[in-house]
This record gives sequence, structure tokens and C-alpha cells, in this order.
Amino acid sequence: MVVVMSASATDHDVRHVVERVEGAGGQAFVSRGVVRTIIGLVGDIDAFSGLELRAMPGVADVHRISVPYKLVSREHHPERSVVWVGRLGRRVPIGPGTFTFIAGPCAVESAEQTAQAAHMAAAAGAQLLRGGAFKPRTSPYAFQGLGSAGLRILAEVGEAVGLPVVTEVTDAADVDEVAEHSDMLQVGTRNMQNFGLLQAVGRAGKPVLLKRGMQATVEEWLMAAEYIAQRGSLDIVLCERGIRTFETSTRNTLDISAVPVAQASSHLPVIVDPSHASGRRDLIVPLSRAAIGVGSDGIIVDVHPAPEDALCDGPQALVGRELRELAQAVRVLPPMLGRSPATAGGAG
Ligand code: PEP
Ligand code: MN
Repeated sequence: MVVVMSASATDHDVRHVVERVEGAGGQAFVSRGVVRTIIGLVGDIDAFSGLELRAMPGVADVHRISVPYKLVSREHHPERSVVWVGRLGRRVPIGPGTFTFIAGPCAVESAEQTAQAAHMAAAAGAQLLRGGAFKPRTSPYAFQGLGSAGLRILAEVGEAVGLPVVTEVTDAADVDEVAEHSDMLQVGTRNMQNFGLLQAVGRAGKPVLLKRGMQATVEEWLMAAEYIAQRGSLDIVLCERGIRTFETSTRNTLDISAVPVAQASSHLPVIVDPSHASGRRDLIVPLSRAAIGVGSDGIIVDVHPAPEDALCDGPQALVGRELRELAQAVRVLPPMLGRSPATAGGAG
């Protein structure tokens, strides 16, 4: 924390601040500039917050330097983390050194459609299967997902193709059931600040995929991760999925810089969802290449055997040539940047 004194502050004002900080058990380092004096504080920031330093005579401003999140920060944990997903013997890593490819249908619509999409994902080289059973739709009239039945279909299909599964949970009351039938719990963009849900997934004992809120800053996103971490789970993967801007040619705007920004501030792995970021099939390959180039730890994409019939997000679902192009990019590009494919079976 840094206290900036006003140009008219007296020596007495400076001394007064120093005494108050020292009285709270902290240390105060005074640097005098030509015009202003600043005081650097070392110690328990939370104790300093109660001192009302901003209200003291001669104080112009107080800046917090230390980040407000702790458990997920690199300040407290400098090494970048690897999160393992799936059961022993079939665990898939997400983090530095590897590149994790997650693919599957936006929504579980039927056993057949999910199986077809899962085979497409596996054939393209995906290491994890995605699929929504509880769908958070903007319209209450849109397909809401198959719910519990969808969870069971996804789990069976994942088992059949040999891929761990990740699926969204939208309500704290469903967390136990979703955790029972999946390997990773997804918190979607609309729920990034649903604090009750964050706490519930933090207690569930399964890794969490935390999407960035479409209107959230990187700091708010990391604070949301902190809620999960505080409840006991540090197995959190962050997912940049586009934010709202004035641009209308894409569904959202992929904030590609958020990947290295979040990785610099947090030890948690960061992946990219180019499907929900753009809403456009033709942009998935270029945006995935960008994600790989910027150092993303993986991508998550929508695939569908018949996008024109999809009950959810058909325009962004990959099939055919575009999926083959993506598979090629994911095979070729990460190794050029020192990342190997995230094959299953590691020790975890
Ligand atoms: C999804 O991945 O199915 C989804 C709804 O994503 P988002 O929360 O990013 O919109
Ligand atoms: Mn979707």
C-alpha cells in the first residue's frame, strides 16, 4: 500500500501517518520527492484499511499495490499451476507445458447426437469432452437442456469414447448431482458472480472451469476464482470467452490480451473459448491459432454432427472441413511453442 501526501502536507502530517501505521504493527517507508512525499506501507493490508488513512490531514491518496485476491495470485504462488481432470489413469492435465483441446456439443440434445459429436471430438484429437445438460439461455422459450437425463447421457458417452467430461452447473442446488456425473464443473459467463454457486462448486471436490463474465474485468474474474479457492478448491481453470463491446460483427469480442494478463496475475491455467467468443464457425480456426500463439493453455470449442439442426448455437458449431483444419492447427502449432498435447494418464 502506498500513501501519497499532498503537496502542502507538513512534516507533522507525515509523522502522524507513520505513527498510525506503526501503531497498527506495520512499517512505513517515507520517500520525499521535490514536490510530494509518498509513504510505502509494509504489513497487514487489512489492518491498514481500518486506519482511515485517506481521511488524515495532508493525505492526497492511498493506493493498494498488493492484489486483492490471494489464493489464486502469483504473488502468493509464483509457479503456474497444472489442473488435472478425470479419474486416475485417465487424468488430463491443463496448464503450462501442455495444450488441452476440449470439444463437444454446446448442448446434449440426445444420446445419438452426443455420441456423434463425441466421436467427432475424439477423432479431432480432443482430450476432454464438453456438453451442456443445464443450459443458461437468454430466452426462457429457448431449449433449456435435458437436465439430469442429459448429465447421464454425457457421462455414458464420455465413458464410451474414453474422455473425461466437463459440463455446466447453473444452480447451487444441482452441484452435487452434476459433480457425481462429471469430471469438471463449468461455471458459465452469466454466473461468474453468482457467489453462492461459486462457493458450492468450491466445496464439490471436482475441478472447476470458470468462464469470464461477459462484462467482468480480469480482476473481477480473479476475485470470482478466489471465492472458489476460499472454499477449498484450487483446481480452477479460467476461460476467456469474449466480452461485450460495441462491435456487432461477432457475438462477443475475444479479449485475447486477457490470456497473458490473467496468467501474469494468477497461477491458474487459462484457456480460450473461440466458439462463444465469436458465435461464428468461420472464425474458430483463426481465433484458435491466436489463442495458441498468445500462450493459452487450451481451447474449448463446440462441435455438432448437423449444425443446421442444433438446438443451441448451431452457427458456431464445427463440422467437416473446419473441424479438420482446427485439428491440424492444434496438432502442429502448440509443439512449435514448447507445448505437447495434453494426453491422458499422467500421475496427477
Ligand atoms: C457454454 O459453454 O455452453 C456456454 C453457455 O458458455 P458461456 O457461459 O461462455 O456463454
Ligand atoms: Mn453455447
